[in-house]
Amino acid sequence: MHNDKALKKVWEITNNNIFFKRLEEIKGENARDFLKNISGKKWEKVFKRSPKKMVLICADERTVSGSKEFKVGIAGQTILLSKKERDEFVNKIKGKIKEVRSHSGCGAAGIAYNSLKEKDKKEIEEEALELGLCLDKFLKEKNISEADKLGLFYSFCLAKKIKASFSHTPFRGMRGEKEFHDARIIFWSANKNFDPTSLLNKILPPHFLANGLVFGVGEKYAKEELKILSKIALSDHGFGKLFNKKNPFFVVSVGKNLKEGKELNEKAKKVLKEFGDKIRFLYL
Ligand SMILES: [Zn+2]
Repeated sequence: MHNDKALKKVWEITNNNIFFKRLEEIKGENARDFLKNISGKKWEKVFKRSPKKMVLICADERTVSGSKEFKVGIAGQTILLSKKERDEFVNKIKGKIKEVRSHSGCGAAGIAYNSLKEKDKKEIEEEALELGLCLDKFLKEKNISEADKLGLFYSFCLAKKIKASFSHTPFRGMRGEKEFHDARIIFWSANKNFDPTSLLNKILPPHFLANGLVFGVGEKYAKEELKILSKIALSDHGFGKLFNKKNPFFVVSVGKNLKEGKELNEKAKKVLKEFGDKIRFLYL
């Protein structure tokens, strides 16, 4: 596991972006003008999706889409959805998503690995092999855990089902740290064009992007996922104890418009009540 020194060092680095330096400019919970002001010219890109390639990637802040891609961010590429929800998702998304990308050290794959029955795990693996997954390339990677393999098999099968290509990102292809999550924000988005990637590092700190709501997952699941991801950030898997009232974790709800953003914000508050003032709620 990580040590406190490494954690604090990364925390200090994330303090250096404009978001924290100008934070006092946010009045109330509506952060749209604030984000626009700190983004400068890059603001234009934030709500512009087309003609980018849509890629289904984990909501994990360490997996960032490429400059010509649009990230559909769902924890473990939907590995935590129930079968019924997954079938619905597949029907909605077929043909739209061009690639499914798993990654090493996936927390959602870990949750699935610990909660799925052996029989179900075996089934996913067998299905992946039947569909022609070549394991050698991935198994040669260092640090690939059993949970990672499950996430990989699962994502490969999903890619086949929705007729998309598949890839896996090992640790060396990810940003941030292998040992812990450095996310200080989660964007909970119902806006099909919202993409904050161009603001990362200089303007915005590392952030989860959970936008499954607009790409076919139900609200019940989206709320559960919001809780899981916030818990990761606020636990020892993330900055954990470094979050407090003065330095909260930010949950930013993004709607199609401000009205919807505000509604989502109220829902997020209810879902994350247990974390008290360790979370600050904003909306766009
Ligand atoms: Zn993940």
